[in-house]
Amino acid sequence: MAKIDRRQFVKSISVVAAATAISGVKPTVSMAQEKPYSSNASKTGNIYEVYALAYLQGARSKLARALYQQGWDQDVTLNYYVWAAINKKIGEVTLIDSGCAEEAGEAYRRPHAGATYMHPKVLVARLGINPEQVTRVIMTHMHGDHVNGMLDFPTLYPNAQFYVQKKELNFWAFDPMVQKPAFKMFLNKPGVDAVAALAKTPRLIILDGDQFVGPEMEVLLCPGHTPGLQVVVLPTAKGQTIVASDLGHTFRTFTEDLPSGIITDIRPWMDSLDKVRSRAPLENIFPGHDILMATNFPKVAEGITRLA
Ligand SMILES: [Zn+2]
Repeated sequence: MAKIDRRQFVKSISVVAAATAISGVKPTVSMAQEKPYSSNASKTGNIYEVYALAYLQGARSKLARALYQQGWDQDVTLNYYVWAAINKKIGEVTLIDSGCAEEAGEAYRRPHAGATYMHPKVLVARLGINPEQVTRVIMTHMHGDHVNGMLDFPTLYPNAQFYVQKKELNFWAFDPMVQKPAFKMFLNKPGVDAVAALAKTPRLIILDGDQFVGPEMEVLLCPGHTPGLQVVVLPTAKGQTIVASDLGHTFRTFTEDLPSGIITDIRPWMDSLDKVRSRAPLENIFPGHDILMATNFPKVAEGITRLA
């Protein structure tokens, strides 16, 4: 990789400092920004293995909740996931989202007869990952089923830094609009508080837009489902791959150009879909809750499949 130009370095630092200047949160600049990463996979050989870890399986819903205005009378089964991206070359593990800690996980599971929950840490261990290997946790967005695990993750993964978009943190932690019923029903205060607490330490990296956060690993700001949802773009053996989380609840969002029924702003959502589809082939774009990720990909352990 080309030597980093000093001006470029300073620019990247100031972007992060500006990004973190939000009320109540001390600006933090971590080591992660001192080595700006770029897309250079063909030269560096940084290729990721991507796994889906289904921490809650068998939740029942109406299709209209997962796919905008479709099938009000049709049932659909959904899983809840965290994802792991393993870079074997350098022995690093990135987790994407934190799922739910015990209490919230059980609360999500309870209404669904036959559904099963397990703490995401059990699945991470099942994949043979040792906690010290986890160097980064990327929060795609701050809905409860993706962020509540932050109650445990900073302790469970002592070497990890945590990445969130400024727009997302600002909204859930500080915007009075969150108290309106349309948003409050998705607010998970314990998870949001855990992230806000982490903002007072150098372990939380607050991003402002698209940025490389690891070797050949980029996040893209993709608003719509929430104000600051981010997706993760990675080189894999299948080519560029995107963990898109709830930008689409199921694969059908990306093929049918329809959001889910949980919407902050539908127009930016349409733009975000175009943005993601311009960066990876459709078959390499993975949604947040589709059971096909558990059933149509090679199973490597109970509750774990390899996506790419
Ligand atoms: Zn969501």
